[in-house]
Amino acid sequence: ERKESKRRKESSAHTPAERRTLRVKMVLLGSSGVGKSSLAFRFSKEEFSSTVPTVGCAYMTHLVCLHDATLRFEIWDTAGQEKYHSVTPLYYRGAQAALVVYDITKRESFMRAQLWLRELERQYVPGETVVALVGNKGDLSDLRQVMLQEGQTLAENKGLLFTETSAKSGSKVSELLMTIAHRIRQSTTPEST
Ligand code: GDP
Repeated sequence: ERKESKRRKESSAHTPAERRTLRVKMVLLGSSGVGKSSLAFRFSKEEFSSTVPTVGCAYMTHLVCLHDATLRFEIWDTAGQEKYHSVTPLYYRGAQAALVVYDITKRESFMRAQLWLRELERQYVPGETVVALVGNKGDLSDLRQVMLQEGQTLAENKGLLFTETSAKSGSKVSELLMTIAHRIRQSTTPEST
């Protein structure tokens, strides 16, 4: 009987169904048109659609498997609320990760990203939310108005993760989610489901 119980223990350690699944709420912030919905769509479906609706969906989900746990990302899109330059505090509540997105071809969106960061700082408890600054539309480098280094410097000054992505080509999108997943595992204890 002891042998049987040992065998069961050993096999369960390797059964994916037995892995811990942790729920992570991640919110997207940034001006209209920077590619938030496209990124959310990319995260969850790993493909790009040029006709993604900007308004409507509450959140999409995506699973990220780490060696010791599975993180179930609930990716919240603003559903168009950003047009009013702020979103309801409910949107931020319980968020363990936030992406502040700008469009590298629109300087205005980079200026706005700094305002979103300030708003975010008012809403979250430092150290409890992993925040990444994201320069999207990296595939349109000919139209670039914001230098890579400007994004890097802003992120460094504020202690944020930083990357440039392309929701269109998929460049750096899954790497970003993976980096956030690792950071969350290091710095917070997400809610178990
Ligand atoms: P949102 O308003 O921030 O949610 O932005 P959307 O996801 O609706 O994207 C706005 C427009 O930019 C759409 O026409 C998208 O097809 C386009 N778009 C989004 N991401 C990219 C990208 O990485 N590269 C390019 N070239 N276009 C993008």
